[in-house]
Amino acid sequence: MRYDVLVVGAGFAGSVCAERLARAGRTVLIIDKRDHIGGNAYDRLDAAGVRIHPYGPHIFHTQSARILDYLSRFTAWRPYEHRVRARVAGLDVPFPINRVTLEAVFGVKLDEAGAVALLDSVRVSRERILTSEDVVLTSVGERLADLFFRNYTRKQWGLELDQLSPGVAARIPTRANDDDRYFTDAHQVMPRDGYATLFANLLDHPNITIALETDFHNIDARTQRDWTIYTGPIDAYFGCAEGPLPYRSLRFDHVHLPDETQFQPVGTVNYPGPEPFTRITEFKHLTGQDHPGTSIVYEHPQDEGDPYYPIPRPENAALYGRYRALAQATARTSFVGRLAEYKYFNMDQAVGSALASVDHLLNAAHAAQVAL
Ligand code: FAD
Ligand code: UDP
Repeated sequence: MRYDVLVVGAGFAGSVCAERLARAGRTVLIIDKRDHIGGNAYDRLDAAGVRIHPYGPHIFHTQSARILDYLSRFTAWRPYEHRVRARVAGLDVPFPINRVTLEAVFGVKLDEAGAVALLDSVRVSRERILTSEDVVLTSVGERLADLFFRNYTRKQWGLELDQLSPGVAARIPTRANDDDRYFTDAHQVMPRDGYATLFANLLDHPNITIALETDFHNIDARTQRDWTIYTGPIDAYFGCAEGPLPYRSLRFDHVHLPDETQFQPVGTVNYPGPEPFTRITEFKHLTGQDHPGTSIVYEHPQDEGDPYYPIPRPENAALYGRYRALAQATARTSFVGRLAEYKYFNMDQAVGSALASVDHLLNAAHAAQVAL
């Protein structure tokens, strides 16, 4: 078969590229080695009928009205503000750290000004912010770093805070007020009918052909196309020619509780202590589903398994740079998304990168007066 474009991977990056190109009149074959579309954002009903996220909790949040508007063509939304508590050392407190967390940890009464003053008194100063340890210590100091960040990070990454780039810990704000939302973005919503429906709508176009359980490395030579958009791990594309790029994986332990309507008070509870898992998420909070039972997932970080997280640290960025040079020298191929760009993207950022890539591709093709 012949297509204008082959898209490898049907997650947000690949599906958005496919939709934009199809809408611009190109024929697209989109493949995924899994048996479903949606990538890691995929959701489905479990055996008991509770909507779960098989690859871990996915909460949509963005600052970009443009990206929200674009996705709104394919789904209705339900408002949802994610809340997280941390259970550690006998405490059960809001996380990210806020005024209430500080009162509980330090055993004092604080108003907002008092919380600011307390943070100022525990904060460590650093001339330069080079690692995630610098970010945490300059925000909250040693005691709160020990309680909430050091061991969680060790569990999540198998690395110390000072081995990770600043951006990892910088995902977590510090607050002196009572805001207990996990995200501060202007838009915080969940697809009303689930992610799987959003993806089915994205890919519902006569120019798009979907082939599941199809690995790029098996079809490569057989499918003729003018252009390839690859959204899998970039090192795998090049047969790990420069050595394997490290990714962090997770084991998801899904549990259905038939006799409990609610397992925990908020969507996610983080466990920064000695437990072997990092967090437990209860899906009904995220989806708003009404069900007599409930379903939860434990996240157990590990090295082996599907690549879920790029690991942001300088040596990995350097290795990625070598793959990026190979990618730039690869004719008629774009590398887009969290695994292909080796960037710790949230969903909206994967969408943003896909939109920009297709714009660039169509403009370049137009300028060169070639078919694509
Ligand atoms: P993916 O979704 O990984 O899609 C890539 C696809 O390519 C996969 O389906 C894969 O099967 C396929 N593929 C790979 N290699 C091949 C091959 N050789 N042949 C065929 N197909 C191939 N973001 C948020 O905004 N909010 C959250 O709450 C959130 N929570 C997360 C929780 C966890 C545990 C994880 C791991 C991520 C979370 N994310 C969250 C990030 C989100 O998952 C990503 O931003 C998004 O899925 C990236 O989309 P993508 O298309 O780049 O990659
Ligand atoms: N983090 C932490 N303690 C927590 C939550 C997060 O130390 O209770 C650190 C940890 O290094 C983690 C990073 O902050 O990897 C980013 O957390 P986030 O919840 O954004 O990670 P994700 O949802 O992407 O797994």
